[in-house]
Amino acid sequence: MITGITGQDGCYLADRLIKHGYHVVGTTRKISSRRLTGLQQLGICDTVTLETASLDNVESIEKLIDDYHPEMIFHLSGQSSPRLSFDQPEETFESIAGSTQRLLQAMHRATLPSRLFVAGSCEMFGNSHQQPVTCESRCDPINPYAAAKESAFRSVRDYRERHGLFACTGILFNHESPLRPEHFVTQKIIAGACSISRGLQKDLHLGDLSSERDWGWAPEYVVAMEKMLSREQPEDFILATGKHTSLRVFVSKAFESVGLSWEDYVVHDKQFVRSHDSYHPHASVNETTDRLVWTATVQMPELVQRLIKARKKLDETNYSDS
Ligand code: NDP
Repeated sequence: MITGITGQDGCYLADRLIKHGYHVVGTTRKISSRRLTGLQQLGICDTVTLETASLDNVESIEKLIDDYHPEMIFHLSGQSSPRLSFDQPEETFESIAGSTQRLLQAMHRATLPSRLFVAGSCEMFGNSHQQPVTCESRCDPINPYAAAKESAFRSVRDYRERHGLFACTGILFNHESPLRPEHFVTQKIIAGACSISRGLQKDLHLGDLSSERDWGWAPEYVVAMEKMLSREQPEDFILATGKHTSLRVFVSKAFESVGLSWEDYVVHDKQFVRSHDSYHPHASVNETTDRLVWTATVQMPELVQRLIKARKKLDETNYSDS
């Protein structure tokens, strides 16, 4: 069972599990054609079982678990943008921390055991002064999204330690793919560079380019999620490449890939500057490499090249359709 199956990770994870012979049940708040785009792009829309659920009460989660007795539950749903979480603090907290708490409660009461993976976030470390961060590093969340992720992380540990549930958190660093929505800056850059190169856009407005991120390739991260539920014991892991790059390098590689120089097109725009943006944690991936036996192999600049290639293909398809 995958909550948030319509999202970037949900689609890739469903695809992987189907290939491994699983029957995949996925939840969405509402079935609509816009939401199904990712599943359709991967050609698995008709292979998964979709359930409409908002995870806002324990009873509906218990019913889902009773109906399907899932061997594995991947909890990926929730408001996933740190920036938007300032405008929607309550919904962000409820959809991340509240839903995780309810899932744990329902699993605890269920007659048959399930294994739970919860999508955590490196945002919870915030301005943590310990660098690089591990699963034991101090959390210092600086936005409502990060606070909600920290709360979910603690609930998972609590249920695992107090009730012996097989539950774990993957502390995810940024991971991208062509399925990432355009309100995330990476897709905005990729789409912008491609549009400018085709003469459809004049410039690209961005905030602080000095901010750094650890960017990986989403289809690899779902491999780690599945691995975490296939172990003998539940344990939290950092899921990251271990390498960080500035947004400026990301931008320059994107423009370079379409034959342009970014300095000619990128406009600094204060409205896109996030406070504390440059204090992004650096990941320690030693434990993940050694004990989960998982490593992110796609890194910059290959990541950017893959995103540009996919975007060009999409633009060509849209152009030939219109
Ligand atoms: P997406 O935003 O692509 O997908 C999340 C899904 O959750 C959406 O498809 C949506 O499904 C559902 N959702 C969105 N808003 C809400 C809401 N307010 N309440 C309930 N459900 C909601 O996320 P990703 O696939 O990129 O990420 C998966 C998980 O990993 C998320 O929990 C995210 O926070 C976390 N993560 C991701 C990172 C990344 O770089 N991608 C980095 C760190 C953490 P529907 O509309 O169908 O209900």
